[in-house]
Amino acid sequence: MSARKVIVTNNRIDRIVVVGGGTAGWMAAAAFSRYFDNGRRKIIVVESDAIGTVGVGEATIPAIKGFNAMLDIPENEFLRETRGTFKLGIEFVNWGRQGDRYIHPFGAFGTDLHGIPFHQLWLREHARGGGGDITDFSMSAAAAALGRFGRPAVGARPPVSEINYAFHFDATLYAAYLRRLAERQGAIRQEGRIVKVHRDGESGDVTSVELEGGRLVEGDLFLDCSGFRGLLIEDALETGYEDWSHWLPMDRAIAMPTANRSSPDPFTRATAHAAGWQWRIPLQHRTGNGHVFCSAFMQEDEAERILRDTVEGEELADPRLIRFTTGMRRKAWSHNVVSLGLSSGFIEPLESTSIHLVQNGIARLFGLFPEKDISPVERDEYNRGMREIYEDVRDFIILHYKATQRDDTEFWRSVRDMDIPASLARKMELWRLHGRVFRENAELFTLPSWVAVMLGQNVWPERYDPIADTLDENRVAQAMEKMRAGYRQTAQQLPPQEQFLRSANAW
Ligand code: FAD
Repeated sequence: MSARKVIVTNNRIDRIVVVGGGTAGWMAAAAFSRYFDNGRRKIIVVESDAIGTVGVGEATIPAIKGFNAMLDIPENEFLRETRGTFKLGIEFVNWGRQGDRYIHPFGAFGTDLHGIPFHQLWLREHARGGGGDITDFSMSAAAAALGRFGRPAVGARPPVSEINYAFHFDATLYAAYLRRLAERQGAIRQEGRIVKVHRDGESGDVTSVELEGGRLVEGDLFLDCSGFRGLLIEDALETGYEDWSHWLPMDRAIAMPTANRSSPDPFTRATAHAAGWQWRIPLQHRTGNGHVFCSAFMQEDEAERILRDTVEGEELADPRLIRFTTGMRRKAWSHNVVSLGLSSGFIEPLESTSIHLVQNGIARLFGLFPEKDISPVERDEYNRGMREIYEDVRDFIILHYKATQRDDTEFWRSVRDMDIPASLARKMELWRLHGRVFRENAELFTLPSWVAVMLGQNVWPERYDPIADTLDENRVAQAMEKMRAGYRQTAQQLPPQEQFLRSANAW
C-alpha cells in the first residue's frame, strides 16, 4: 500500500487580531496565546479605553471550571482576584405563579435506580402522595438552602461528590485577570479606537483595522469581540442578525450594584416582575442587581423604580441602562472573521449563558482552527455548531416564560400564549405525556435542568414513565428516604460559604 503523506503547508495563520478587550476578547486572547503563540505567531488585542466594556455578566454555569482549568488558573486565586463567590444554582421567585419559589440547582436529582431515571421514581412517589419536594434530592440545592458550601475533593464519594457549582464574579476583574495572563503568555495589547476596517478587494476578507491616527493593525484571522455593535462581523461584513424578540421580547436591562447586607448566598436569585425579572448576584464586595424588562410593556422609569425599591443594600452607583435585541448573527464566522461574545449574539442572562457561549465558541474554533485558505466546509461546521447551541439556550429560556400560569399582567398573558419554536413544543409535549426529557446532540441543559424548571413552574406530566413500575414501591420509597437524609445531613456539615472562602484563602 502506498502511503500518502499529510502535507506540511506554509499557509499558517500567524497573526490573530482580537478586536475588543471585554470578557470575550480577553478570554479568547488568554486561550489562544496559551496554545498558539509559539514565537512566530502573534495575538494582538485592540481595545479602546474610551469606549469601555459592557461591564456586566457576573454569573456563570459549571462549565467555566473547564475553561479556567484549561488555562491552569488556580480556583482560590481566581476567586480572590475576581471577588468571586460560589453559585450552586438559581432561585426563581414568582415565575410559575406569584409567590412561588423554586431552585434550579446544578447537578443531578437523586440517584437513578436500576437505570430508571430518578425523577420518574420520584414522580411515582409523588403520585402516591409521598416524595416531598424534588429539590430535597439535590446536593447543591440542599447546600444552597442553608447558605453552605463544600468543594468535593478528587475521588469524593456521594452525596458530597454530587455538589456541582459555578461562580459569581466581577466580570471587569475577570477580564483584567485574563489580560495579565494573556500578556504573560505573549499577547500584545494595542490601545486605540478602530475607525476603519480594510478588506481585500478580491476575496472580501478583512486585511487590517485602522486606528484613530492612521495606524494599521494587520492580521490573518480576526476575532470580533467588539460587543453588541459587531464592528467587523456586521459593520464591515454585513452578515445580518436573526432577531428572536418575538419569542424573547425583553430588550432592556437596568443594572445597579449595592452593598452587601449579609454574608453572600451561594446562588443567584431571579425574581419575576410585571414585565420582566430582576437578578441578584452576591459577590464578596457587593451585590450585582439588574432589572431585565420589555419596553413594550414597561417604561424605563418604572423599571428603574422597581429595581431601586426592591434591592436590599445601599446603592453603590447610579443605575445604568443597557439596550439589546435578543438573537444571533446569521453566521458567527464569516470570511476570516469569527465573532465571539455580544458581537455574535445575545440571549438574556436568565440562565447565565453568555460567557459560556464565548467559551464554547473558543473551544469550537480550537477544533476547527483554519489555515489562511479557510475551508468553507469547516467554517460552515463552526456556524452550524454555534447555531445549534444558541438555539438550545434560546429554547430553554423561552420555557421559563411559556411555562407560567401568571395572568396578572398583559406581559405574562402574552408570553404564556405566544407561539414557541417547534423544537421546544416537541420537548414540552414529550414532558407532558410521561415526563420524559430527550437531550439532543450536545445540548447544554441536561435532564435535571429541564426537570427543575418544569416542576418548579408547576408543569406536571400526565403520567410517569411506566418503566418505574418495574421497581418495588416500598423499596424505592426507602431508598429515597435514605438519599434525602444523606443530602440533608451532608449539607448541615458543610461550612457557610463565606467561612469556606476565607479558610481557602479565596477571600
Ligand atoms: P464588551 O464587554 O462590550 O466589550 C467590547 C470591547 O470592544 C471593549 O473592549 C471595547 O472597548 C471594544 N471596542 C468596541 N468598539 C471598538 C472600537 N471601535 N475600537 C476599539 N475597540 C472597540 N453573561 C454571563 O455569562 N452571565 C451573566 O450573568 C450575564 N449578565 C449579563 C447582563 C446583561 C444586562 C448583559 C447585557 C449581558 C450579560 N452577560 C452575562 C453577557 C456578558 O456581559 C458578555 O457576554 C460578556 O461581558 C462579553 O462581552 P463582550 O466582551 O462581547 O463585549
